[in-house]
Amino acid sequence: MRYLVCVLYITFCKLSVAQQIGTVDFKTGTVKVNVMPETKTVSGFVTYDFVMLKDTDSIFIDAVDMRFEQVLLGESKLESYNDGKKLWLKHAFKKDSTYRVSFNYWVVPKKAMYFIGWDLERDGVSNVIKKQVWTQGQGKYTSHWLPSFDDMNEKVVFDLSITFNKDFEVVANGRLINKQFNDTTITWHYDMQEPMSSYLLALAIGRYDKYSEVSKSGIPLTMYYYPEDSLNAKPTYRYTKDMFDFLEAEIGMPYAWQNYKQVPVKDFLYAGMENTSLTIFSDAFMVDSIGFVDKNYVNVNAHELAHQWFGNLVTEVSGTHHWLQEGFATYYALLAERSVFGDNYYYWRLYEYAQELLQQDRSEQGTSLLDPKSSSTTFYKRGAWVLHVLRELVGAEAFKLAVTNYLKVYKFKNVKTSDFIEEVEKVSGKNLEEFVGMWLESLTFPYNDAMESLKKSYFIQEYLMVDCEVLTSKCNDYLSSGISDEAKSKIILQNPAVIKKEDFNNGVKVRQAIAQALSKIPVGFKASYESFLEDNSYITIEVALINLWTNFPKERHRYLDVTKGIIGFKDCNVRVLWLTLALLTEGYKMERKQEYYNALIDYTGPEYGFEIRKHAFQYLKWINACDGNCHENLKQATTHHVWHFSKFAKRLLEKEH
Ligand SMILES: [Zn+2]
Repeated sequence: MRYLVCVLYITFCKLSVAQQIGTVDFKTGTVKVNVMPETKTVSGFVTYDFVMLKDTDSIFIDAVDMRFEQVLLGESKLESYNDGKKLWLKHAFKKDSTYRVSFNYWVVPKKAMYFIGWDLERDGVSNVIKKQVWTQGQGKYTSHWLPSFDDMNEKVVFDLSITFNKDFEVVANGRLINKQFNDTTITWHYDMQEPMSSYLLALAIGRYDKYSEVSKSGIPLTMYYYPEDSLNAKPTYRYTKDMFDFLEAEIGMPYAWQNYKQVPVKDFLYAGMENTSLTIFSDAFMVDSIGFVDKNYVNVNAHELAHQWFGNLVTEVSGTHHWLQEGFATYYALLAERSVFGDNYYYWRLYEYAQELLQQDRSEQGTSLLDPKSSSTTFYKRGAWVLHVLRELVGAEAFKLAVTNYLKVYKFKNVKTSDFIEEVEKVSGKNLEEFVGMWLESLTFPYNDAMESLKKSYFIQEYLMVDCEVLTSKCNDYLSSGISDEAKSKIILQNPAVIKKEDFNNGVKVRQAIAQALSKIPVGFKASYESFLEDNSYITIEVALINLWTNFPKERHRYLDVTKGIIGFKDCNVRVLWLTLALLTEGYKMERKQEYYNALIDYTGPEYGFEIRKHAFQYLKWINACDGNCHENLKQATTHHVWHFSKFAKRLLEKEH
């Protein structure tokens, strides 16, 4: 069919393989959309202003499975053709002339815009149903919900106006300049002043409260949260302003956008996405102050923020240079975290990245950093390592100046690796050919050189030195010496036999390692181990509950009583385990067994986030109690938009047959 179309529309199609970036430059996009969740539909009126760089007889706008009406050039009807992937505009366009095209469109997006919870209305659980609409443009293409540009090299100043049910908060790129109140809806007018690639366009709609701070430089920072999550907002967003101020100073280039907003959403596809001035992230990161200890948003927060410069202000020309976004965001996130958590944390994370890269090379999965098919491990972690080593090579001052220059030269443009390297060479006076060959181009990560560099940190030196597998004679003394928590944890996991009663007096992280290492609990440690149930760590509590319950059957009622009110992380890790154990425990609250079972089945339903559902399915499977409702929910989960969750559900379902 596509072939036939191309024969008929030969003049339209000849452009489709080539980029049109040298032919036309789109400048501004004014987008007015109605988002209708009941029918999962978007309709809108769009205006694009553009200037021609060459004479041509047709140009296109990417638009997947859309319908168009009233396609106008200025005031006159424009000949157009919709091939299902692109809207082709036919006209004798003249070099250096500016034009305005406008049209109405209508679409049911198959991806890139997600309607969450709109077809759920079940009795009894309605208070947990989240109704949201949110977008994800990277890797999915904004052209599934808005006629726009798949080519990252096309940067446009987009102003978004969104009309939606008045009971919801609507957040989009840029500054909210006006809210227009209609009968049952509100139209939210957002303004952008600088251009960006289409994949960075975003909106998030839901029921939210928010609080704001202002950066040192005067940029408003707004943090959104679910009304019922008010106590979790501050722990979740901890250090946001500090890291914003740090990054602005460290990068040496002012934040380029009018404000910065962060919005958690349900069932997000990734940890977070750095849409211009609007980071959308998984609500699984919303934590209370206990959750913060083990699983916090700080790293993702810093990473997405760093992308506002590396990715959004300067954008890769193509996937070959993806590390200019992910490597930089990972590295600058580490620097921001270093400013909060200290040097040891920084070196520790680099050490972990190096181990991951080594494993990748050992399984022969290593690639050059400049291979567009590289893994995220390569783009993110090897990319971060490149910058760490480069800074050491040229010196902190030269490195910083080069990064600032690079951003100044290429702001609002697209970049290649050589653009960055040339700036560093200019400032440092060093030829970086050898460096590029070894750290960027080689197929394997220079692990030995990386480890050599890490030995500058005493903390890492000590960690490497302390070893129960090599120096068994010293093993007994390590835990009572003054070594770091990480080194102690290493010893504990290597050789749990060395654990003595006094080692339980350590801090929360070492205690967690002990809880994990001792799945068989010596009777002499029973009382000490029981104290884990009161630790400020949901991981420790989860591990301790299952291990105690298994090791000391006579005490099961007591363990359940002590932990009965604990929910755990946003994925309800402790609660789901607790319900399972309460069901399994003979004679425990017989009159409430049915209620516990129903609660566990409820957690498998689509009104809950996929993280909770996954736990519930696993435990129900474990106790062989996935009933009809659970089974229906599992079947439904096989079509979930989060691919790893639907894959999980399919596997579980297969095992049943
Ligand atoms: Zn990233």
